[in-house]
Amino acid sequence: MISNIKRPTLVIRESVCRANIDRMLSKAKASDVIFRPHFKTHQSLDTGQWFREAGVDRITVSSAAMAQRFASAGWSDISIAFPANLREIAEYDRLAKEIRLNLLADSVETIKELTTNMSHQAGIFIEIDCGYGRSGARYDDHERINAVIDQVRRSGKLVFKGFLTHSGDTYHAAGPEGVRNIHDESLARLNRLKNEHSSSFPGLIISVGDTPSCSIVEDLGDADEIRPGNFVYYDLMQYRLGACELNDIAVSVACPVAGIYPLRDELVVYGGAVHLSKEYLDGEEKHFGLVVRYTDGGWSDPLPNTRLLSLSQEHGIIRTDSDTLSSIHTGDILGILPVHSCLTANLLGKDTLMI
Ligand code: PLP
Repeated sequence: MISNIKRPTLVIRESVCRANIDRMLSKAKASDVIFRPHFKTHQSLDTGQWFREAGVDRITVSSAAMAQRFASAGWSDISIAFPANLREIAEYDRLAKEIRLNLLADSVETIKELTTNMSHQAGIFIEIDCGYGRSGARYDDHERINAVIDQVRRSGKLVFKGFLTHSGDTYHAAGPEGVRNIHDESLARLNRLKNEHSSSFPGLIISVGDTPSCSIVEDLGDADEIRPGNFVYYDLMQYRLGACELNDIAVSVACPVAGIYPLRDELVVYGGAVHLSKEYLDGEEKHFGLVVRYTDGGWSDPLPNTRLLSLSQEHGIIRTDSDTLSSIHTGDILGILPVHSCLTANLLGKDTLMI
């Protein structure tokens, strides 16, 4: 119960999460693409179970440890969507013995190391950088891409699955149209690669995954697989991009009020950067989160004229107006809608309340 909360706690609305899962799953079905949601957002076996109940049986994670945790809970088809870490090949090999495992690679060296040091079969996605500039072979670096494919073909135990990208640049788009343009461009680049290689590898697929694209683009059918993660919780960043409505946000952070300061229309909550992360939204009113009140089974809309103004390690400073301030008391519990729920959920994983 909210009234029993003593420390900053991630409050998760189960019905909203389940609705977010159902909506994305329906869109994947309507677009005829494989749905392989990223579990790094929630990292929770309970939330994973809601996906399972909805009919999901393939997942994405970002580390060998996360793959092991979900494999132990019965998930048997897992992609680790982070560049294969050569220091963890033994862990990959153990996983590949137990489950259907896909790894990411973008270099000949990585394929050689995996081939030499793994004894079980694993799928390989070649990670492509379609313009985001994080990891992956550049979409037009045909020499590198062809060399990796060739090395996979010669490995004997690795199976070439296709091309995978994460268009994280959608997070910096100006709005839905910008998100659509980035998505279309990435898919055009991946489809060119697919067309070039599909006669040699008829089953190869292209896999994309970022919540803004998967939420905003109506028909995802130009891809073969989608891997969004954040959509299960959404957050204020997604709301600002136009990827969700405010009432699709399924998480808030419940924070005890620790100090009231009428001279500056501010209050302090127990809830700082170690709980919420330092992600903020820029603009006229830069803020680190919006403030809600808990209601029976949920929370209110964000309080008007009220925002999380700044964060230190454990303190959150909220600025509001004098009327609102006079209605809040030390010891009350306020909710913060997070800017980036993946980081917040990761920080608060152990302190979680489902409502
Ligand atoms: N795939 C990869 C490789 C990622 O790195 C991420 C997130 O960082 C995702 C999928 C999921 O994207 P999102 O967090 O936008 O849902």
